[in-house]
Amino acid sequence: MGKSAAFEDLTPYLEKISALNTTQVLFGWDQETLAPKEAAGYTAGTIGILSGLYFELVTGAKVKKLLQRCEKEEALTELQKGIVKELKETAEKLECIPAGEYKEFAELTAGSARVWAKARQENDFASFAPVLKKILAAQKRIASRQAKKGQKLYDVMLDSYEKGFDMESLDTFFDSLRRELIPFLKKLTESGVQIEDGFLTGDFREEKQKELARFFAEYLGFDFNKGVLAVSAHPFTTNLHNHDVRITTAYSDHVDDSLFSVIHETGHALYELGIPDELTQTLLGTGTSMGMHESQSRFFENMIGRNPAFWKPVYGKMQETFPEQLGGVSREQFVRAVNRVRPGLIRTRADELTYSLHIMLRYEIEKMLVEENLEVEKLPQVWADKYEEYLGVRPRNDSEGVLQDIHWSQGSFGYFPSYALGSAFAAQLYACMRKQMDVETLLEHGDLAPIREFLRKNVHQFGKLKTSRQILRDVTGEDFNPDYYVEYLKEKYGSLYGI
Ligand code: ZN
Repeated sequence: MGKSAAFEDLTPYLEKISALNTTQVLFGWDQETLAPKEAAGYTAGTIGILSGLYFELVTGAKVKKLLQRCEKEEALTELQKGIVKELKETAEKLECIPAGEYKEFAELTAGSARVWAKARQENDFASFAPVLKKILAAQKRIASRQAKKGQKLYDVMLDSYEKGFDMESLDTFFDSLRRELIPFLKKLTESGVQIEDGFLTGDFREEKQKELARFFAEYLGFDFNKGVLAVSAHPFTTNLHNHDVRITTAYSDHVDDSLFSVIHETGHALYELGIPDELTQTLLGTGTSMGMHESQSRFFENMIGRNPAFWKPVYGKMQETFPEQLGGVSREQFVRAVNRVRPGLIRTRADELTYSLHIMLRYEIEKMLVEENLEVEKLPQVWADKYEEYLGVRPRNDSEGVLQDIHWSQGSFGYFPSYALGSAFAAQLYACMRKQMDVETLLEHGDLAPIREFLRKNVHQFGKLKTSRQILRDVTGEDFNPDYYVEYLKEKYGSLYGI
């Protein structure tokens, strides 16, 4: 660190902010994995206090003064400048919301996930609609406070997940997916090609699946001295710092579910484990955005994990673990099965080709909700119509339709596009990587180190010092370009389905 008196004075505050963040992350992890059901009520109180302390600290007069002093200092290093900028932006976003409103929103969303879960279970959208209306109104109010002059509300929301992306750039992105992938998918489903995948479902003992999960996480580079693998209802990754990164998975009778979710979460984890020591525990010590994070997980899940070359050295391990189920299944059959395309209703179970179409329609619907005042009551109908139009399937009820995702109940509008952007970022990075190394040969030899090193050097090591757009420009020499993604998908699935 450079010698800046102002930054030195700010440091204890930064450390407190980091400690509060870490504590909240740990509570979040605990709630999803080990905490008993009845703990939630009291724990919510504790979390409320912690987030209040965080709010006071970040928006407090002392920090504000120190930030002003830091901005005038010339001795700041690049890293220090980045931290000051990040803290200032965080404070500005928080302080435009009155403390009462902030607390009210936290309370609203604290209970809303439960209302949503019940509504989903009982297939009762009407019981969730009033809460959703309140959340949407609150989010719009918050966005209007955060908006720069003339900025559209949905653009504010999008920017909070992916800096530098707005409706204009996302319209272009999704237009190209709509134009290219919808007719391609139609051709594919009409080709009549059937891929057998029945052998992926059956009685796969959980203990054995756990053993495989550990094996594959380690094989990809997950360091169990700095990480944990646990079970939760929905797989996720969380990180306290670069010496403590945690992933979860869920085991079912579909053996590929836990397998690919572990590969996916390991991709997220490698990003966080690749954050350098000087960045970790600072405000810049994490992945730069939702989209870039998702690019890392999807890169490992799809470009690596569903690559025929990847399975050459490790398919034997699968057969050894499940001789009854997979002993008679060839590697080629297995690889085809894990790449099958099947347009369905549920986003989290979608295949690689149709996944981004699930996102595209959510983007369109969010835009209608935020910018065009679509009535919440009309959501189930709009949702079902779009599924029918894009994917050729229509939900029979709202549980498998508009109620399937938790995001809106948490107030996360603008989050969904990150998933599709992630896949597209991954394809652009992959195209660049292939110019520099023979990925297939490396995979066939089980040599993943050069692949990890490429990502560490070009993506992971910067934490939040660069935005996703800057990273793409610096690595690939061009701005975000969705063509790579479309080409990648058409080439891969065109050859798999012979179309
Ligand atoms: Zn993910």
